[in-house]
Amino acid sequence: MADEHPGEMGAVDKAGGPGSVRLMEAAALDRLFASLHEAGYRVIGPTARDGAIVLDELAAASDLPFGWGVRLEPGGYRLRRRDDTAAFGHSAGPGSWKQFLHPPREKLWSARLADGGFEIEQAGDDAGREAGPPRLAFFGVRPCDLRAIQIQDQVLGTGRGNSRYAARRSAVLIVAVNCTEPGATCFCTSMGTGPAAGPGYDLALTELVSGERHAFLVDVGTEAGASVLAGVPQTPAGAATIDRARSAVAEASQHMGRSMPAAGLRELMAGSHDADRWDEVASRCLTCGNCTLACPTCFCTTVEDVTDLSGDHAERWQHWASCFDLDFSYLHGGPVRASANSRYRQWLTHKLGTWHDQFGSSGCVGCGRCIVWCPVGIDITEEVAALQAEAQGKQAQDAETPGGAP
Ligand code: SF4
Ligand code: SF4
Repeated sequence: MADEHPGEMGAVDKAGGPGSVRLMEAAALDRLFASLHEAGYRVIGPTARDGAIVLDELAAASDLPFGWGVRLEPGGYRLRRRDDTAAFGHSAGPGSWKQFLHPPREKLWSARLADGGFEIEQAGDDAGREAGPPRLAFFGVRPCDLRAIQIQDQVLGTGRGNSRYAARRSAVLIVAVNCTEPGATCFCTSMGTGPAAGPGYDLALTELVSGERHAFLVDVGTEAGASVLAGVPQTPAGAATIDRARSAVAEASQHMGRSMPAAGLRELMAGSHDADRWDEVASRCLTCGNCTLACPTCFCTTVEDVTDLSGDHAERWQHWASCFDLDFSYLHGGPVRASANSRYRQWLTHKLGTWHDQFGSSGCVGCGRCIVWCPVGIDITEEVAALQAEAQGKQAQDAETPGGAP
């Protein structure tokens, strides 16, 4: 980086507006945080706490996890010290952004007995509709997680007009971070979601750390992004810096820790209903539902009603549910999916197969969280590979059978 001259010949810039590419020193992160605060945003981003990199409200840039990386494996997550000061030298942590847009638990309404009838009080965002939901700046959204937000937009936001999700989402500004160092359980390249951020960000950073120099290439995506960046010291990025940053991101796609078959997942899932592999994975699966809670796209909920002992006051709450819960498929008389086999199959075939039919895309963005946070280390890529091998084995067998499959 020492040879770079911001603003040099060949710079690609549109005076800081959408489409421009800027260069910002790491020291200017504080000013970027201040600019976000001045624009009325609470900044949510990664910070090292309790042995993990979690997402929380950050008061200043110094709360970012400078110098921390992670070691990931099936069923395993460890913080590690890096030998540089990178703030984004880590991959997906235990929590995703869905906790802020689609909270794990929220009150929908409450009712009070008054004058012989019930008086309903709306809760949460509905109650404060005039003030609106808080303005949040999501700082450090990975490309896979940016795509996950778009998937949840489609499921919970778009077309649902005045939903609580849509109201929250409309108040969010996104500062994405391109990945240059994927984790051992990442496979965003296979799912077409990274390591470069797709559309949908307001600003996208690429971290550049080399020796003493620590800077960020900043892609400006929207007027809102340009507006918060305007108050921050930055210059047009030089062509050499842009090339270096783009190459680092492109190279990251060659270093994914995992991969998924490139095509045919939907068909594979549709044809695997009776696969033997479901019994094998069910013999290890605890049906704990951790994978669904950690997944940034899983969206299922249930509602429960509670009353106080006097019977004067009642509340309706919504909370996350999981297709691994026995009660999740309870119809009159019992659960439709009573076995672990059928519940794992439901999760995987929906995520990679019928999600396409419902929403027009895969429900998996390749973040790897379900692999890391599965207590017994069940690996979605390994399960798909096993299902594919089983399907190919059966096809080969059928081809050898005179007259084909019975
Ligand atoms: S299924 Fe697993 S890898 Fe895919 S998006 Fe969900 S948590 Fe991430
Ligand atoms: S796959 Fe793993 S995380 Fe998911 S329910 Fe089974 S044991 Fe729990």
